[in-house]
This record gives sequence, structure tokens and C-alpha cells, in this order.
Amino acid sequence: MSKLYIATGTQPKKMTIDLLERINPIKGKNKEIKIGIKPNLVCASPAEEGATTHPEIIEGIIIYLTSNGFNNIKIIEGAWVGDSTKRAYKVCGYEEISKKYDIPLIDLKDDMFVTKSYKGMELNICKTVFGLDFLINVPLIKGHCQTKITCALKNLKGIIPDTEKRRFHTMGLHKPIAYLNAIIRQDLIIADGICPDPYFEEGGRPKKLNRIVAGFDPVLMDSYAAKILGYKTEDIKYIGLAESEGVGKTLESDTEIVNIYENASAADDITIVQKEKKYLNMIEQADACSACYSNLVNALERLDESGFTENIADQICIGQAYRGYKGILGVGDCTSCFEKYMPGCPPSVDDIIKFFTE
Ligand code: SF4
Repeated sequence: MSKLYIATGTQPKKMTIDLLERINPIKGKNKEIKIGIKPNLVCASPAEEGATTHPEIIEGIIIYLTSNGFNNIKIIEGAWVGDSTKRAYKVCGYEEISKKYDIPLIDLKDDMFVTKSYKGMELNICKTVFGLDFLINVPLIKGHCQTKITCALKNLKGIIPDTEKRRFHTMGLHKPIAYLNAIIRQDLIIADGICPDPYFEEGGRPKKLNRIVAGFDPVLMDSYAAKILGYKTEDIKYIGLAESEGVGKTLESDTEIVNIYENASAADDITIVQKEKKYLNMIEQADACSACYSNLVNALERLDESGFTENIADQICIGQAYRGYKGILGVGDCTSCFEKYMPGCPPSVDDIIKFFTE
């Protein structure tokens, strides 16, 4: 349980197959089991941009499973609020994989949901997930402008409906992520660290980390991801909360990290240095959705590079908690009662830049 396996290199398909053959996660399982593969297709952006799971990794998993007689496989995902899963499947190369291996692509945005209660919190979760016997989570080791990182635990946010994604933000994000993981257990994690964006979940600044990491414990995986991305485990609140709920155990000095290629250089020697983002102090966020907040941060970073943020004197409000309230400067439809606001749900990065420059 408390082990991580790493393949380093630049050939995602081969690395994935090598990892799976090494850990043999389906040993002894009935070949009829229903298997769901959950990538991270947060938006319709090719994997090279650092936001989405490399399709070659998914292909590697499918080759491994089918060559071992496991054919009852589907790919499941629900992109973030404001983007289309179907567009993401197409742009990210998943439609080709689906055709080549006859594997269905399920858009969880079209799914019904089931309400589950955990410690008094009701969570709506897509129905498809409850029909699976084996869930393979294939997140990225990636930055996130609200929770700092996203990896195995937060990737499960793609299995809830859009309305619930918005509601997660009103509940503070961290606790519902931990509780969701207490309800839905993932059976295997293959984390894509080929060229993730260490700062933004929607990509655009890919960094070559040249690794894929496999394991069974999402808390351990996220703890490892935090370390690689330049944070301490305790900086990421939902990791500790998930550990408290018995979802897994964090990285410790005696955690075994196995590099499956003998001749590879040390696999755990990378740490990203996070940039200081002073412009974040200009934002007053209250229950903002990921896409909305991320687009604003992205726009501000670009405005900051050209020295424009110095011209913005007011605090910028964003988030669902501002609905119906008056204010001065806002971003998103939730701030429609403000004196000046950028419409959209969520508004795009380019539109936000245009709004501020105008
Ligand atoms: S406008 Fe409001 S509801 Fe829409 S994405 Fe932004 S924060 Fe979420």
C-alpha cells in the first residue's frame, strides 16, 4: 500500500505498460469486471500544454488490460464548468483511441447522479461510477491556483455534475474533496508527470518532469505530488483531511519509492520552485468556481507581465457568494450587481484581459 512506482522517460505508452507489468494490479481479478478509466480532461487542450492526461498513457493502460483478457472498459470524464467533455475528448486525441480499441467515451455531464451522505454532508455523484468494479484514476501532477496542487484526490471532482462542482466551491472545496474520496475509492492511480503545468490547472506553461507514477493510495500520491510541486503536504489542506478520513497515508521518510528502470537517475530529485504571485492579493474570492478563478488569475498574470496590474486600483471580486450584492469591480455573472463587472459564466481569459485593458 505505502509504495510508489516511478517510470522516468519520454515514452508515455511504453512507460505505462512497463509500470503495469511491474505492479500487476489486476492479478487474480475476474476478467469480466467493469473497469473505468478516469483521465484529467479539465479542458479541451492537448496534453503537450500541460493540462490534460496524455492519451498515450490511456492507450498503454488499455493495451495492458486487453492483452490480459480484460475488455469491459470505459473512459469516463466530466470537464470543468465552462468547457465541453466531448470537445476535450476530440481535441485531446481520445476519440481516436476510442475508435481504435472500441472503448466507449462517457461524458459524465450527461449522466444522472446519486446522492450519498457522508458525516452529514450530502454529495451528488455521477451514477456511472457506481456501476464500476475497478476505477483507474489517471490524474496529472499539476498546479492549481486555488488548492495549489491537483492530483489523485482532486481529480475525482470530474465524477460529479457541474452543479455539484459549483456547490463544492461554496463548501470550501477541501472538505468535500476529502469526503468524496471517502465515498469513492480508487483502485489504481497512474499519475501523469510527463509535462504538467506546475502553476495552472488549465495548462499553458508545461514543465518537463518526464515521469509517470503508479500507486494505490491517493493520499500518498498527492503528498508526493505536493513535494514535487514545491509544497509541503500540510500546505494542501485536503490531503490532511483525506488522511483523517482513512483514505490513505501521506509520504513519510520510509515510504518506498521504486524506480522501475534500473539505469534511471534518481527519480525523486525534482522540486519545482513556485513563483511569487503578488497580483493574487488583488483578488477577493468567495466560493469562485475553478474555471472562473483560474481564468482571472491567468489574465492577471498576463497583465502583470506587461506591467498593467499597477493600473487596477480596486479589489477584484469573484465568486458565487457575491450574487445579489453590490460592489465596485467584479468578474463573472455572479457579480452582475457590481458597478463594473465582466460578464460570463465563466468569462474567458481573453475577455477578462480586454475588460481590464479597456
Ligand atoms: S460566474 Fe459565478 S457561477 Fe459562473 S463560473 Fe464564475 S463563480 Fe462560477
